Amino acid sequence: MNETPGLIVLKPVFHNNIWGGRRLEQFGYEIPDGPVGECWGISAHPHGDCEVVGGPFDGMTLSQLWDEHHELFEGAKGDRFPLLIKILDAYDDLSIQVHPDDAYACEHENGSLGKHECWYVLDCHEQGHIIVGQHAHSREEFAQMVKENRWYDMENFVPIQKGDFFDIKPGTVHAILGATLILETQQSSDVTYRVYDYDRKQADGTLRELHLEKAMDVIDYDAQAPTSGKVTAPEVDGVTKLMSCKYFDVLRVRVDKDDPRILAQDHPFMCLSVVEGEGGTITTAAGTWQVRKGSHLVAPFGCGDLRLEGDMTLICSYV
Ligand code: ZN
Repeated sequence: MNETPGLIVLKPVFHNNIWGGRRLEQFGYEIPDGPVGECWGISAHPHGDCEVVGGPFDGMTLSQLWDEHHELFEGAKGDRFPLLIKILDAYDDLSIQVHPDDAYACEHENGSLGKHECWYVLDCHEQGHIIVGQHAHSREEFAQMVKENRWYDMENFVPIQKGDFFDIKPGTVHAILGATLILETQQSSDVTYRVYDYDRKQADGTLRELHLEKAMDVIDYDAQAPTSGKVTAPEVDGVTKLMSCKYFDVLRVRVDKDDPRILAQDHPFMCLSVVEGEGGTITTAAGTWQVRKGSHLVAPFGCGDLRLEGDMTLICSYV
């Protein structure tokens, strides 16, 4: 293929979760019945591999594109598409959990990737909180707190507002609490060690499995727990770099009516999710795509500059 590649539009995959709600309908999605907690907007993970909608690759999955058309991701290394972009609707509290890093996951979870994740808060309760970090200084102290059910002493609660951002490194104890809507950018991994699940029962009356030993292996007891998720990075021409780590960079891009933005796509690929606003268009050398709140796209290698027009906020990421 010598032509300039166009944007790749993906169809999200939804997951039912006991803590989920119905607010993903706000994004114009047709979601399954019951509580739905997760929209996997950009994913090639075997637990939810997104299909391409329209264009020359219509009907293929993102993992197939990665394997069979790697020129679309030129320069990106690894045997799998490395990122996973989700929108989470926490109607109820998520379990208190922690994720391993690459080295631990590779050894203990069949070669899986670890999970560095980050959250952009799309909506929350006025007095909303989130758990990021914990207060035990050692494995022994942590084990003692768990034994004594001292969850409130152990967890670090942070007040949240719409537009906050949290970098959740592997080894960080965390939980999204009820009434929170979040866009999550993460490594393509589904390895979670559950520390505490409030003793709540699933539909079939059983408790979800906990993984305390593994959790205690991977918790970073020296990490400084944050006190705020307020974004302090500057906004330049609508673009704010929310974070940068060895796995991915995350940007927030705000586009106003009558003020189009040009975004250079000089990375192996770029993930684009429209999270707010009426929507608009994205134009590249290959054409123009209509997008709206809830759209998820991948801008492939060599697609050139993206011209964004309309009224929308996007969260973008690249490796
Ligand atoms: Zn997590």
